[in-house]
Amino acid sequence: MMIDLDDFKNINDSLGHPAGDELLRVVADRLVECMREGDTPVRLGGDEFAVILESARSAEDADAVAKRVLEQLSQPMTLRGTEIVIGSSIGIAVSDGTADPADVERDADIALYDAKFAGKGQVAMFHTDMHDSAVQRLSLTNQLRGALDRGEITVSYQPIVDLGSMAVVGAEALVRWQHPTRGELAPGTFIGLAESTGSIVEIGRFVMERALRDAASWALSCPGHERSRIALNISGRQLQSDDVAAVLRDLLAETGVDPQRVVVEVTESVLMQNAETAHQVIGELRNRGIRISLDDFGTGFSSLGYLNRFSIDEIKIDRSFVVNLENDAKKRALVQAIITLGKALGLKVVAEGVETQTQADLLEQMGCDLFQGFLFARPMPAEQFIAFRLPAINCGETAVRIQ
Ligand code: C2E
Ligand code: CA
Ligand code: CA
Repeated sequence: MMIDLDDFKNINDSLGHPAGDELLRVVADRLVECMREGDTPVRLGGDEFAVILESARSAEDADAVAKRVLEQLSQPMTLRGTEIVIGSSIGIAVSDGTADPADVERDADIALYDAKFAGKGQVAMFHTDMHDSAVQRLSLTNQLRGALDRGEITVSYQPIVDLGSMAVVGAEALVRWQHPTRGELAPGTFIGLAESTGSIVEIGRFVMERALRDAASWALSCPGHERSRIALNISGRQLQSDDVAAVLRDLLAETGVDPQRVVVEVTESVLMQNAETAHQVIGELRNRGIRISLDDFGTGFSSLGYLNRFSIDEIKIDRSFVVNLENDAKKRALVQAIITLGKALGLKVVAEGVETQTQADLLEQMGCDLFQGFLFARPMPAEQFIAFRLPAINCGETAVRIQ
């Protein structure tokens, strides 16, 4: 079992090496607690740990131990007065004891890479296909390197709707990769890669620039659009390694877009893993008049804590709360509570992933302000987006017909 801590470097950089050392000790203690007789936990170096799980009787057994380790490691800890949460990823390779130990180690490493790629905080079990997918990933990584220069990175816009006035109030910018052989790729296939190689910084800048230029041209080409919002997603790595506040300041000056139109969407996990930087960047953005939206709200494990700690303007209820809302009374109770809470704090509440009319009706009754989802429109290229919203703004017609 190979264990790797996510973003350990950030801890060293932001809290100092003594805090980093302390963290490693806490991790080691927690690891030992999860072990059984016969297991051997070791630190390989840096933030990499491994366990020889001799007590495991089967792959499932090893998987269960790994999940327990992840769970333990994800508990908050206090380092020098700062509460932090560290994520980790685990790769497992199983051997009957006859394989070359070096091969088992390599396979567990490949599985670890797979786990990280699948999104942090995962366990992956090695299987031979992973060799192939490791090769594929490598090739995708190489292709991604030149994708921006070749003009393959594009931005789609998904309308955000106000049901009260039946108008499109703006859009969320969503990155796409027009891959030469694989067609249009959604961010899920390459954002992880871009994060791990660092190219997310450049790609993120490109998306911000493209989106703001588009938003500026909408404001000019269509009266009423001056106030339409443009929502941008910012990932953890971007927040850490790019001066997002300065980049946005320059872009706003260059494009002339009113900062009040810009909404920056961050997820709870981004805040969680970058609390210090996030605090500072969010402060700077809000000082400029840019609004902050807490994305995927309700999926983190300390949502309420974040509402208290960070100054935000809006919450975006995660799609998982909207799916099947009509048939799930418990979900409805949760969503109602989230909306009531948001309102009590003076926040705007946006629902995403709205796919049915019933979901839209329910959310509206519960007091949700804005809506986004396939019911209204899928993400689309800029040209289509303008056409989608022009009628309402020019002629006062209904912008969105709900089928
Ligand atoms: P997100 O911020 O939660 O974005 C919403 C995702 O939900 C989009 O997926 C959108 O297409 C999808 N969606 C919207 N309405 C519905 C619906 O009714 N049903 C279903 N099933 N899905 C719906 P997409 O475009 O694949 O983006 C996935 C994620 O990638 C985004 O999740 C966001 O976290 C990330 N992302 C997208 N663009 C960027 C970007 O420019 N920068 C960064 N850092 N991340 C981005
Ligand atoms: Ca988003
Ligand atoms: Ca979201």
